[in-house]
Amino acid sequence: MSKNDDFVTKQFHCVICNITHEIQLLKKLTEKRSKFPFSHSFLHGELKNILTTLYLDRHLDIRGVDVQQLRDDDLFSKEQVISILSTLMEETERLRKENEKLLKELTKLKKKKN
Ligand SMILES: [Zn+2]
Repeated sequence: MSKNDDFVTKQFHCVICNITHEIQLLKKLTEKRSKFPFSHSFLHGELKNILTTLYLDRHLDIRGVDVQQLRDDDLFSKEQVISILSTLMEETERLRKENEKLLKELTKLKKKKN
């Protein structure tokens, strides 16, 4: 596995799944923030129905974990929606970079064949 310098890997214990999850956090998350710790929300679980909020300090250390199992009739607050959306955008960015890297490798392999 190659290492990606844009991310740090952290772990948090989830009381709903009763396991320790590993998560990749974009280092840029701490940029342009004036308040620490800040909240970082996303959904996880097999059904993506566990709302997870991590409280991160300026070193991206996890200071607090809040997990909440959602029911079908649960509504998100505006803050939660913004937080979830920004997390999805970061995830998209991560996948885009991974895809870029794989395409480069593929091109290299193709060149070798010819
Ligand atoms: Zn969990």
